Amino acid sequence: MTGALDDMGAMREALQLAAQAQAAGEVPVGAVVLKDGVVIGRGYNAPISGNDACAHAEIIAIQAACAALGNYRLTGCTMVVTLEPCVMCSGAILNARFSRLVFGAHEPKTGAAGSVINVFETAALNHQTAVTEGVLAPACRALMNDFFQGRREVIKRTTTPLREDALRTPDARFSDLVDWPYTPCYTTEIPALNGLRLHYVDEGVRAVTAAPIDVDASGRHGQGACLLLHGAGGWGYQWRYWIEALRARGQRVLVPDLIGFGRSDKPKRVSAHSLAFHAQVMAGLVAALGLSQVRVLDASGGLGAYLSQVHADVFPRLASIEVSRVGAQTVASAPFPDDGYRAAERAFAAASFFGDDVHLSSDKKRVGEAIRMDAMRPDGEPSARAAALAFLDAFLDA
Ligand SMILES: [Zn+2]
Repeated sequence: MTGALDDMGAMREALQLAAQAQAAGEVPVGAVVLKDGVVIGRGYNAPISGNDACAHAEIIAIQAACAALGNYRLTGCTMVVTLEPCVMCSGAILNARFSRLVFGAHEPKTGAAGSVINVFETAALNHQTAVTEGVLAPACRALMNDFFQGRREVIKRTTTPLREDALRTPDARFSDLVDWPYTPCYTTEIPALNGLRLHYVDEGVRAVTAAPIDVDASGRHGQGACLLLHGAGGWGYQWRYWIEALRARGQRVLVPDLIGFGRSDKPKRVSAHSLAFHAQVMAGLVAALGLSQVRVLDASGGLGAYLSQVHADVFPRLASIEVSRVGAQTVASAPFPDDGYRAAERAFAAASFFGDDVHLSSDKKRVGEAIRMDAMRPDGEPSARAAALAFLDAFLDA
């Protein structure tokens, strides 16, 4: 047939499709289905964008070809794909009764046409599909190598090295958190961190930056920012039911995991922790985000009070909230795979940690006196929640 594509010509088309997958951030694999040298189906890898584990290039090309022919069998057709098919796609190629499979690069980890297994040489399964491998293999392999090389570089750029004298809880320990849809933010840029990685949540009105605390003309509290400090028995997750309530009140909400807790890095030595250090980190975080005045809700037992003394201009409003346990024991222990991670807990528990430096002025202490953290639970006692919300309004209006 005039103008009919040969294997190389078809593979060039498949490579172009693979490049489309790459442009979409997918592993670059492309496939075409040929009948009599004419392309009757095209596909490129799209599992991520389609939320579809089955959206491999071959499957998409097969579906297109079947639709074009109005037939669930592709007898006499050739599958041309840039990468050795996986088990799923090889099965689909057999089921569709392809006459030939042509692929470019081998896939040593998942290839089912000879690299890991060979379903096409399993006599009991296969009576019709002949395999040609290595067509334009260097180009196909280069595309894959470039892609993974690029991805490794991105990972390298976005991964913070861990300081030698610190530990970092594996992400998997936090995979089961409920009621915590918030995007993790990380920084190492605050000078006091000296290379440690701080985790925090930054939700609500991001436009609130340098907004001073003020009551607006309508008499309601204006937009502002709140810093929520967790207690020694938990981490930022303790505040999960407060974030929405504060967002609904126009607040920008910062919920850090203090160094040594939650997803933040954990120095191994107890002596790495002091009230002044944690205060420097929190003041640094607020400054790094360009916030000039921040209200503090404090469940730490003293850090908020210390901040409001040392940096009174930045932290002019403070309320202490009674600590409640973080939740089920498995959740409470999530940041601590073993006791080596608990140096911060031990430091905070020491009688001398908050020391005599922290003097709450009586008016600061009064706000939120009777409010417990778990009063905000949506499934809790309605009157307790109403009281907590009323407290928030008063606190924001103050
Ligand atoms: Zn596949």
